[in-house]
Amino acid sequence: MLEVLEEIGRDRDSGGYVRDAWSPADLELREWFKGEAARRGLDLDVDRNGNLWAWWGDPAAGPGVVTGSHLDSVRQGGPFDGPLGVVSAFAAIDLMRERGLTPGRPLAVVCFTDEEGARFGVPCIGSRLLTGVLDPERARGLRDDEGDTMADVLRRAGRDPMALGRDDETLARVGVFVELHVEQGRGLVGKGAPVGVASSIWPHGRWRFDFQGTADHAGTTRLHDRDDPMLPFARAVLTARVAAERHGVLATFGKVRVWPGNANAIPGRVSAWLDARGAGERAVRALVSELTLGSGATVSEESWTPVVDFDVPLRDKVAGLLGDAPILPTGAGHDAGILASAGVPSAMLFVRNPTGVSHSPAEHADADDCRAGVTALSSVLEALCT
Ligand SMILES: [Zn+2]
Repeated sequence: MLEVLEEIGRDRDSGGYVRDAWSPADLELREWFKGEAARRGLDLDVDRNGNLWAWWGDPAAGPGVVTGSHLDSVRQGGPFDGPLGVVSAFAAIDLMRERGLTPGRPLAVVCFTDEEGARFGVPCIGSRLLTGVLDPERARGLRDDEGDTMADVLRRAGRDPMALGRDDETLARVGVFVELHVEQGRGLVGKGAPVGVASSIWPHGRWRFDFQGTADHAGTTRLHDRDDPMLPFARAVLTARVAAERHGVLATFGKVRVWPGNANAIPGRVSAWLDARGAGERAVRALVSELTLGSGATVSEESWTPVVDFDVPLRDKVAGLLGDAPILPTGAGHDAGILASAGVPSAMLFVRNPTGVSHSPAEHADADDCRAGVTALSSVLEALCT
């Protein structure tokens, strides 16, 4: 299955993946999902927010056991972040069927829409809308880099933007959620284990910094006459690094837009996105307010996810089923975190990543480790379904 997905949304020059939500690549991946569901005789349901569900058994007989992840990617991402969880979910069902198992509860594979937030700036949009933590009105108005709103984009994809919003009916079908994901770090490498279990997700958020200036000619405007927004932006980047070290958290400016973006012009405006996260919420907040105060920018919070502690009995049960698999925290956000915060007992399995690199074409998991992940997932599903 991963081989089939290999060419979809792949940038031939860099080898990285660009799979923005609702882009042609994403639509092709969604069709692939529907095909895999049909091939297995699973019943497809597309919820109000565009998340895809493939049910084995009648969801009305639930609440059921749900597994899966997402198929969209960050820009220039790797092949495993997201797809590994969806592919492993289908493969785990195949394995259960090979063993002659029939689940005692409905079981579904889910593909959450727009997990990475590459297009509209807010991560986990599908699961945030489902659980009601993202206001549908705000979601409809989010704009992509082309200036199109999510409402426009959804309409073009044949979806009804007015249908967005908390979906209690769909949510009630999810008794428990298990997401398998490639590890984004090297926590498992030193432990000699192909599969681990998540303990918690660090609190994390994204903030947009808008630096206003005055656009002018790079050759005719004297230095002291300039109002160049690139300078406070540059200061903010350096300050973020120093403050992150002081607060013991992580801070990253990974996206910046410059208007008008001419090599021979002083910019009129610079917008930059700060990603900040860490083990302690207070330290992350302190860093952000420090940066906000000193930057001279207009700052808006685009998303905030408090710390997520996964359900401890479930986590311990899953780790036990896998022969005392290592339990580790992560700094990366996931749909499983959004569901856990909404009160759905959730767990995550991580598959070893030898370099620890992710959100990059260098992201990797060995085929044997991926198979170990499928086997682990199928045992967990089997135990949860009986
Ligand atoms: Zn992911």
